Amino acid sequence: MANFKTLDDVEVRGKRVLLRVDLNVPMKDGKVSDVTRITRVTSTIEDLSNAGARVIMLAHFGRPKGKRVDAMSLAPVAKASAEIIARPVTFVTDCIGDIATKAVDAMQDGDIVQLENTRFYPGEESNDPDFAKALAANGDIFVNDAFSVSHRAHATSEGLAHILPAYAGRSMEAELNALESALGTPEHPVVAVVGGAKVSTKLALLGNLVAKVDVLIIGGGMANTFLAAEGKPVGKSLCEHDLVDTAREICTTAREQGCEILLPRDVVVASEFKAHAPSKTISAEAVASDDMILDVGSATLGEIAIRFEAAKTIVWNGPLGAFELAPFDNGTVIAARHVAMLTRAGRITSVAGGGDTLAALNQAGVAQDFSYISTAGGAFLEWLEGKDLPGVKALA
Ligand code: ADP
Ligand code: MG
Repeated sequence: MANFKTLDDVEVRGKRVLLRVDLNVPMKDGKVSDVTRITRVTSTIEDLSNAGARVIMLAHFGRPKGKRVDAMSLAPVAKASAEIIARPVTFVTDCIGDIATKAVDAMQDGDIVQLENTRFYPGEESNDPDFAKALAANGDIFVNDAFSVSHRAHATSEGLAHILPAYAGRSMEAELNALESALGTPEHPVVAVVGGAKVSTKLALLGNLVAKVDVLIIGGGMANTFLAAEGKPVGKSLCEHDLVDTAREICTTAREQGCEILLPRDVVVASEFKAHAPSKTISAEAVASDDMILDVGSATLGEIAIRFEAAKTIVWNGPLGAFELAPFDNGTVIAARHVAMLTRAGRITSVAGGGDTLAALNQAGVAQDFSYISTAGGAFLEWLEGKDLPGVKALA
């Protein structure tokens, strides 16, 4: 996977650079309410502009389903980008055709333009070669800085890379390098922490991880299915009883591959799914019919800590408990702080991703201490599943 060209491999002065970015930012009252996605790509925009490239940004916004929808225009996003990079960003009301060509022809070296939402055309998501050609007409090279859309073979993630010389932007480069150091060619032992609600949404991911990591720590609601597979009582916990055979198969494969699976040995139970519901920590053997498992217990956290201390690499997706409800965030917070401490001490590489995982790490106040936090959502999960991401593959 680490086989891709970067901005260090190309002279961009005077070149028209089609730069794919993810600017699908949250908006409130017509204004960008969270600029994280913009700040992730500013170093790429600045590097290109400083090097004399003509920077032509391509992005999607929302789900206009192949039609022009004014409410999904990128105009307000272009305005926010200009403020953040403190340089003019010219907004262009179309991404292909005469309007786009005229705007690009008028550019000087170092200029930055934002073309309108590529999803206003159905050819974006259908990866139509004619649409990709129409986009490519305004560029000399293609730079993909949108890892988060690279699990989809769209015209601006995949199609363009087959028409123009293609490079990874700075944030794509950072993401691919982080992922490579976590699972591609990691330092062992590698410990994976997988939690979250359900086994069913993470089957492929678990299957891939048992083949690659040394220890797989399973927590969260999905651990209950594994406990049930071992014949343990789970009371009224979230549990996918139809998947106990699958859970058993995953454990068998893990044994064959020499991957240790660590399940909760003690759990925090309550009788309702509610913040501050009266709770107690009990053995995972002793869950009563009215109990709901909402977090891992302290003995389990001790076992996790031992694995962390021995690790060189830790990959994390999914909270260990119902972290939205205090105090059932305790297990996740304690484990996350341990990973943060080991990372700060330079003892491990740590990579985490997933929407709820990020929320949980932020809640624990440690997100910035991990070696790398992926905000890529579905693309990160597909990568954890071991899938080839078409937008990344096309960069090779
Ligand atoms: P991510 O978004 O990071 O991939 P998931 O969406 O898979 O994570 O899982 C997060 C959800 O799992 C949270 O809403 C959390 O409340 C839930 N969860 C974790 N542990 C439990 C549990 N023991 N019982 C019920 N829900 C749980
Ligand atoms: Mg989630």
